[in-house]
This record gives sequence, structure tokens and C-alpha cells, in this order.
Amino acid sequence: MQHTASRAFLVFLTSFALSLTAAAADKSKAKAAETSQPSYELPQPQHETLDYGMYQQIRYEGLAHSHVMEYASALDDDIGPRLTGSLNLNHANEWTRDQLTAMGCSNAHLEDWGEFGMGWQQLNTWVRMTSPDTAVFIAQAAPWSPATNGAVSAPATWIEVKEEKDLDKYKGKLAGKIVLYGDMRDVPPVDKPLWVRLDDAELKKLAEFPLKPRNRDFVMQYVKRLQLRQKVGKFLADEHAFAVITPSRDGRDGGGSGGTIFDDSGAGFGWEAYKRETANPLPVVVMAIENYGRVYRLLKANVPVNIEMNVDTKFTGDHEHGYDTIAEIPGTDPKLKDELVMVGGHLDSWASGTGATDNGAGTVVAMEVMRILNTLQVKPRRTIRVALWTGEEQGEFGSYGYVKQHFGYVPTSTAPDQLKLPVWLRKPGGPVQLNPDQQKISGYFNVDNGSGKIRGVYLQENAAIAPIFAQWIEPLKDLGVTTLTMRNTGGTDHEAFDDIGIPGFQFIQDPLDYGSRTHHSNMDTYERLQPQDLAQAAVVEAIFVYNAAMRDQMLPRKPLPHPELEEQRREHLKNLMPGAEAPEKDAKEKADQTPDEE
Ligand SMILES: [Zn+2]
Repeated sequence: MQHTASRAFLVFLTSFALSLTAAAADKSKAKAAETSQPSYELPQPQHETLDYGMYQQIRYEGLAHSHVMEYASALDDDIGPRLTGSLNLNHANEWTRDQLTAMGCSNAHLEDWGEFGMGWQQLNTWVRMTSPDTAVFIAQAAPWSPATNGAVSAPATWIEVKEEKDLDKYKGKLAGKIVLYGDMRDVPPVDKPLWVRLDDAELKKLAEFPLKPRNRDFVMQYVKRLQLRQKVGKFLADEHAFAVITPSRDGRDGGGSGGTIFDDSGAGFGWEAYKRETANPLPVVVMAIENYGRVYRLLKANVPVNIEMNVDTKFTGDHEHGYDTIAEIPGTDPKLKDELVMVGGHLDSWASGTGATDNGAGTVVAMEVMRILNTLQVKPRRTIRVALWTGEEQGEFGSYGYVKQHFGYVPTSTAPDQLKLPVWLRKPGGPVQLNPDQQKISGYFNVDNGSGKIRGVYLQENAAIAPIFAQWIEPLKDLGVTTLTMRNTGGTDHEAFDDIGIPGFQFIQDPLDYGSRTHHSNMDTYERLQPQDLAQAAVVEAIFVYNAAMRDQMLPRKPLPHPELEEQRREHLKNLMPGAEAPEKDAKEKADQTPDEE
């Protein structure tokens, strides 16, 4: 909290100091042109020059002639789920590139962001009970699960593992068994709608900046849980269990029930199941909670249960690369065409549904943005570039890879304990490293919170941008775009930009049933998409992109982040109490601590 508050305050001070008169702004603009200072550092105008005619044209093209659902059906129904590393995702990369070309974009191409891991496809999965009764279950393979050796039939057993030593009692007892791994959880009644919009009270609350400390233990607790899962997987494989069944987690307001299963990293054994070295060591499926509950209760009551199952999956390589789809509308202003405005979403998805809302929605909205702008034959002053990222679900790899290659990056720690963590959880290892092009990008806009229409923008604590966006959304209020919040939001691809000081934004979207039912689930399908919401999102995003490409200056930035100083800045003040006696440090204890710090 201390850091957050102080950084926001710093930004506030900066913007306040820069609130000069328009005349002074013009004067310093002329001066800056001589010194080639990036335009985002100049005082910003008090009034945005908005092209209301273009607002109207974008609205009409996007609302009356929307093609967003056609893109969605081709992507979700024809190409299907798009797990990173998979052949389907390669197909989607090529298809989006070709569609962007067909709609009139220039320079559509794929960019390699690096090696990812294994290519994988689920061909078929079924699970049923054969005794004490017959029952057909709802289940799918966890991502990157190996196949069973054809259909297998085996007694089921449930294991309870809170910590590693709990495994001891199962030694020699699991060979040839199908293992249920995971506690039965509560299945609350669904007494609230799973599908909701933000009402005025919620939007008002969202506009307030929360003054509360952040839970910094979260990362370590999370890593511990992942490490335990990895050990359990290895143990079960070593014990020659046939396969593993895990219960589906819950969604918001009890959404993880009624046939919905959530099937992502949490369903298998460890975050990096996509790497050969840390692969799921035996077949693992995630099962609907009601089906899991039945078997669980029978086993707890010592009723023998026999399960038959078949996991049929295919690996298509151990060293698959990830690619981002990139295309643009070239800038036309001789002075500004080398500057960029970017828009995007992630093209990859999980595999149990078709990734329609996560993030087929953000993908087709970004495509529709480009289609609208191409159709209207806009001549943007800056270049507008669309990027459809991949590897987002495993750590935002596509956006971070692209940003590193083009704009800059935060080095990560290479300390041995840090190297054991997934790369996105590692501590920073030094100051932000920048490429010259980091000064040439005005901003990035992202949609990745499902199918809901846009209600506003998370400003990522960029106070200087608030008065600008406030003017941009004024003519969009009738479309429901009303709210700006200083809050940060995380977990989407704008973070790669924000991390190195480039204005990057995720919009506030109506939640609909994203958190309750569709996010990473088998129910993430075309039916969950709301055509009018997606058309609205494309219109709003197109207007933001257009405004950013046309205004005289690049968007104002926050001060350059210094992640490498974070820990130090959070440390308690020293020598504070005038009455405190010098602490008596035990010499031995001090000596013992030293090796840890290296
Ligand atoms: Zn997503």
C-alpha cells in the first residue's frame, strides 16, 4: 500500500505541476520540437480536439454493420480451442493474419516470441462409473495430460494430502488404481444470477481507489501449493496409479456446478505442465463437482467404486514456438507516422471449451476495430497496430515477448531460488531496460475480461490521463461508458506495456457470466457471446485507438517504474525511535543468516 499510494501521489504532483496555461503549453511545445523531447513529456492540452463526425461514423459502422460475430464463429466454431503450442493455435495465427490482410491492413505477419513447450491436443475423454452403479460423468483431460493406455477400468481411491509427508501412508497402495485427488468442496446453491451487469452503485465503488494493504504472502502460498501438486503427481506416477481425477473448482456465485468444469493449470500437476521436464507424469482429468461428490461420498463410506475411463490425447512436439499475429494501418503524418498506437487481445485459450469469451472476445473485438477503421478508410496520423498475443494463459508470454523485442523489459532475478519459480513470479533482477522505440508508442488498449460491453477504463494509476479519457468518453455515455478508475487491474496483456512505462489499458467490462461460468471452462463457447456487447466494445475501442492516433501528442505517462527498488522502498524506516537502545544482535545468529542473503 505504501508504494501504491506514494506512486499515485507522485503522478498526481507531476500532472498538477504540468497544468500550465494553453499558451505556455504551445510555447514549450515549439521548444520541445527543437530538442526532440518525446511529446508525452510535454504539457498536455486542457481540451481534447475530438472529431465528432468520426465518432458518429465509427458508431454507425460498428453498430449497424457489425461483423464481430462472424469473426467469432469462424474462430470459435471452425478453428476451435487454441491452447498455446497447439496446431489449432497455429491455424488461428494464420487465419487472423489472412483476415487482417483481407480487410485492408498492411504488413500482416506472425512474430515468433520464443520457445513455449509442448504441442497438445485432446482427442477424446470419457469417464464413467461401472460399480456399485453405472453412471456417465462429465470430465475432460487436464491440459497436457498424457493419454491412458486405451480404456482402463480400475478401483477408485481417494487420497488426502495436505503436505508432502501425508503421501507416506499411501506407499505401495495405489498401483493399478484410479486416484481421486482433491477435497470435496462446498457446492452452494445458485441463488444469485450467474449473468450480471455492473449497476450504478458498483461502478461508483469501482471508481474509488481502495486504500488497503495488499496481501504479499499470496505469491508464496500459491507457489507452495503448486510445488506440492507437482510432488503428488510424481508420487502417484512412481506408485503406478493408472490415472487421476480432480474436482472442478468453483466459479463466482457457485457457477462451478451444473455441468460447468474449469479446466486450466489448476486441474493438473503444476503450472508448467506444458514443458517436457515438468509434464503431467500420469493421465489426469478434471470432473464435474456433482460427479466427483458422488464417488467421493461412496469411497468415504467404504463402498468400493469402479471407474472406467479413456483419455485420448496427442502430443505434437516438445519445443513448439509461440507467435503473435501483427498487422497495421500505416500512419500518414510525416512527423508522427513512426509513432504507434496499439490494440489487441490474446488469441490463445484453454482447451475444454472453444475460448469464445477468453479471449476469442478480445480477439474478434480487436479485429472488428481494424475492420471498422479500414472500412472508413481512416488516414491515422500515427500508425495503428493490432497484436493478437499467444501464451497469455501461461504467463502473458506473447505480449511480454513482443514488448521485450520492440520496447524493453524488466530483467528477472537469476538467484537460484528465483529460477525455480515460473518466470512471471520471479523478482526483478535490475532496472528496466529500454529500446529507443519505447519512446515511439503512445499507448496500448486491451480487451480480455469476457464478452461484456465496455463501461470505462482502468487508468493503472496514471492520473495525468484521467482528464483526457474523461473527455473521450463524454460522447460515449449513452453507450454505457461512464467510469474511470485509478485502480490497477492485472492478469491481462496491458501489463507488459505498463511494466516498462508505456501507457497500457484494460477496459472495465460488464462481467456477465465470465467469472461465474465461462472463464477457462468447458462452457466457454459461442453461445456465451453477446453480439451487442461485442459490437459496442469494438466501437468504443476503435474510438479510443482513433483518438490516440490523431491527437497532437502521445498520451502522458507515469514516471518510469523502478521495480528493482520496490523492496527497499517498502522497508521500515531505521533508527526511528529516539529512545530506542541499540539492538543486541547475537553474533552467531548474524553469521548464520549471511549465506541466505547471497
Ligand atoms: Zn484471457
